[in-house]
Amino acid sequence: MISIHCASCGRRLFRYQKIGKGKLLHCWKTRISSDHTERAGDQVYCPCGQHIGVEEGPWINLHGGSFSVKGSALKK
Ligand SMILES: [Zn+2]
Repeated sequence: MISIHCASCGRRLFRYQKIGKGKLLHCWKTRISSDHTERAGDQVYCPCGQHIGVEEGPWINLHGGSFSVKGSALKK
């Protein structure tokens, strides 16, 4: 399980089950176990106002540079 934090204020935005290595580019909504973001339509924001990404169907397309990742993915 990893946690995804806002790059601007450091708040935790998601806890997420990441599988495999590699850069995190989008989050499957079914693998998000807690979500502290705010929405404006399909736009995803941190409560501080930082733009985090865009909901696109089954996943959230993350805006590079707007977040940091802590923790480790399942090695599979
Ligand atoms: Zn923030």
